[in-house]
Amino acid sequence: MSSVPRFLATAARQARPAARYTAPTASLQQQRRGNATAVDPPRQKAWTREEIQEIYDAPLMDLIFQAASVHRLNQPRNEVQLATLLNIKTGGCAEDCSYCAQSSKHAKKVGLKAEKLTEVEPVLAEARKAKANGSTRFCMGAAWRSLEGRKRGFDRILKMVEGVRAMDMEVCTTLGMLTPEQAQQLKKAGLTAYNHNLDTSREYYPKVVTTRKYDERLETIEAVRAAGISVCSGGIIGLGEETTDRVGLIYEMSQLPEAPESFPVNALVPIPGTPLEENTRVTVNELLRCIATARIVLPTSIIRFAAGRISYTESEQAMCFMAGANAIFTGERMLTTPTSGWDEDISMLNRWGLRQMKSFESPTVVAKETPELMAATEGRRLEEAAAAAAAAPAPTA
Ligand code: SF4
Repeated sequence: MSSVPRFLATAARQARPAARYTAPTASLQQQRRGNATAVDPPRQKAWTREEIQEIYDAPLMDLIFQAASVHRLNQPRNEVQLATLLNIKTGGCAEDCSYCAQSSKHAKKVGLKAEKLTEVEPVLAEARKAKANGSTRFCMGAAWRSLEGRKRGFDRILKMVEGVRAMDMEVCTTLGMLTPEQAQQLKKAGLTAYNHNLDTSREYYPKVVTTRKYDERLETIEAVRAAGISVCSGGIIGLGEETTDRVGLIYEMSQLPEAPESFPVNALVPIPGTPLEENTRVTVNELLRCIATARIVLPTSIIRFAAGRISYTESEQAMCFMAGANAIFTGERMLTTPTSGWDEDISMLNRWGLRQMKSFESPTVVAKETPELMAATEGRRLEEAAAAAAAAPAPTA
């Protein structure tokens, strides 16, 4: 490890606080487009891979201190977003991701039966439950390589997106590869974000997945961006990769024209029957290094501590929040892996003085929303506040 973290010392200054938590200002161009709530997309700093490696290798306490400083400059302080992820189509996937229970290649050994796409109403019922319990983002995952030949299924998903957005929740989907036209249809239906992980570095990727290429992932991310949808893209640690691959993943994100609005960090949950079933648990040290490095390099992104969280103690999770994580998945399950529930997670946040982030609080996410949808959300919020005020008991003299 480097004893003088040259780049770390100035990281907080270098990371441009473009999405600092202040009221967004519309650019002239955006005003002309009539998108008056938008902010200019944050410009990414031109990191080199060596700089990011130096940050990753810094003494852990220095690294966390700097990450926490960058976090405070760029993100709502002491706030964590609660998201719920529901599988709307389980198993039978044509891809061969070596970590995943849903690949048809591992189905026999895993013992997971493929299911059909869920109907709209049960999904909306799950979203309502998630909202009532405190989640502000609802994500829906379908185990598909792409939407090719799935027009009826896609139409159903568009209805799900419309229904969840009408609840004023942030709505996200992960459906495999998208064409630019499909991305535009999702945008029209009100989709807030699309998840499409790069998983690991470009070099290590072929050791994890052989049925698709890194550049195909980037093409879908480009289609999502072009449609004006927030990008959620991150990776998994514990796949057997080197630290240089973790740095490589973060470097790839830093090279995108616009930083992803959300960067999920998953700690591998080794699933019996998958090729990675024997992999060992990611250490807290490794986890913290990934989160903190991502926070410094991607200051405006929500850093999402995703799969594997329940295998870390509460204090270890609190360290992750200190290092810059500001979103978690909570609820009954997270796709095919277990997660902790709402009550447990909200109690944990309360013990550490952390508040739940509201929906559409991140300026970079709001910047991608249409003014019409945001106005409708604002209107409903005002109505709810007025109804709550009217129902409150009158103050006594
Ligand atoms: S991770 Fe996604 S794309 Fe890969 S096998 Fe699982 S469901 Fe399919």
